Amino acid sequence: MSGRYLVHTFGCQMNAHDSDRMEEVLRGHGWRAAETPAEADLIVLNTCSVREKAEQKLRSEVGKLAPLKRENPGLVLAVAGCVAQQEGEKLLERVRHLDLVIGPDNIADLPALVLDQMAGAPPRAHTVFDLDAPRFLAAAPARGSTSTPVSAFVTTMKGCDERCSFCIVPYTRGPERYRPATEIVDEIARWVEAGSREVTLLGQTVDSYRDPSLPPPASSDPDESQFPALLRAIAERVPGLGRLRYTSPHPRHATAALAEAHAELDVLARHVHMPAQSGSDRILKRMIRRYTRVEYVERVRRLAAARPGITLSTDIIVGFPGETDADFEATLDLVREVGFVSLFGFKYSPRPYTPALKLEDDVPEAVKSERLARLFEVAEAQTRAHLDRLVGTTQRVLVEGASKTAGRVSGRTEQNEIVHLDAGDLDLTGAVVEVAIVRAYKHSLFAEMTPAARDALAAAPRPSAPRAPRRRRALTLLS
Ligand code: SF4
Repeated sequence: MSGRYLVHTFGCQMNAHDSDRMEEVLRGHGWRAAETPAEADLIVLNTCSVREKAEQKLRSEVGKLAPLKRENPGLVLAVAGCVAQQEGEKLLERVRHLDLVIGPDNIADLPALVLDQMAGAPPRAHTVFDLDAPRFLAAAPARGSTSTPVSAFVTTMKGCDERCSFCIVPYTRGPERYRPATEIVDEIARWVEAGSREVTLLGQTVDSYRDPSLPPPASSDPDESQFPALLRAIAERVPGLGRLRYTSPHPRHATAALAEAHAELDVLARHVHMPAQSGSDRILKRMIRRYTRVEYVERVRRLAAARPGITLSTDIIVGFPGETDADFEATLDLVREVGFVSLFGFKYSPRPYTPALKLEDDVPEAVKSERLARLFEVAEAQTRAHLDRLVGTTQRVLVEGASKTAGRVSGRTEQNEIVHLDAGDLDLTGAVVEVAIVRAYKHSLFAEMTPAARDALAAAPRPSAPRAPRRRRALTLLS
């Protein structure tokens, strides 16, 4: 028994990646995608509890589906992801029209659990971490498929051992478990074979990677991380890969060996997103980040020095418990000192089960808002100055797909800037095009193809390229 499914995703790229695996698992059991909720036999809301708004959105979406469930009692309504893991049975008690609650580690069990529901089983919560035998569902890209993305995401690990005091991830995703390097490399090779040009490695602390197929390292020292070796293995064994990115690294694991990998491997993009969270040592300590501001700056400088032109972006939380004006000024100072070209800023909000709940949420909401606005003001000025500096330069852009403006396409430079360009009748999706930057917008650039690029395209028509653009999310993975 199967039917039509609809998966609705909230939150970060890890969740989007989990949703893709859910869809693959369902399709493997004969399910087909529904276009609308009304024609679905199964609706999965894949949730996120990292930010407050995602939880609010879930409550609102579940509420909206209640009339549909009344009209169609056979509809199976499931909640997956971090809120599912966090709330488990409690969610079933609170939302009476919910049938299934399924944790991130239990995606492979989804088709069987849905069948049970269709056969009349009582509502069920299945949220078990696969600690003893971690399962990583491999993506199954199809060669030449129109759904093959230009830029694919590949999981390297799951869970997190860091336990930052504000973060719920260690509770909703469990402890760190790693995927064997051979599996990761093989999956990347399959994406490239299918037509993807770029891969982003995904992990909650992606740079703490250890290969579980090798003997365990002598200690848990960050220098023992096998992430640089993984990057080298990918570069060596998948020579057809155009660009390699990773998200999100933790500054503690940004070792000298990682900087050396950036110096050696051309395939690594010249951009690193390195969450800082605060520029005040006092607040970093309360956040249990386990680095000081000086250490953070040393590590990102070492990365930037390894390869000319590396740009840096970051995540910042404002209004963490106890954050004074001086602490916040230290954060602004860090943003200026490092010269981030972009950042994601968030107001602190208490999350269930986190150690920071023991701290008084003592920064008034109005102060948090004011600090966030000031942070964005500084960051946007830096973004704008950076984009302005690029006007008149030549860049190589990986075209991801059609832009919102007819006749235009958009893509990313090696440094991660968004570039729009006129493509005319040319199908450039998936091509790496040399462009001259002619204009800077607030968050992106406008460019023209160089004459050399036009000649090259005219002389060598490209093989058919993948069509699906990269799905980029507003939120990064935490780290
Ligand atoms: S912020 Fe990142 S490193 Fe810290 S606990 Fe959350 S996922 Fe782990």
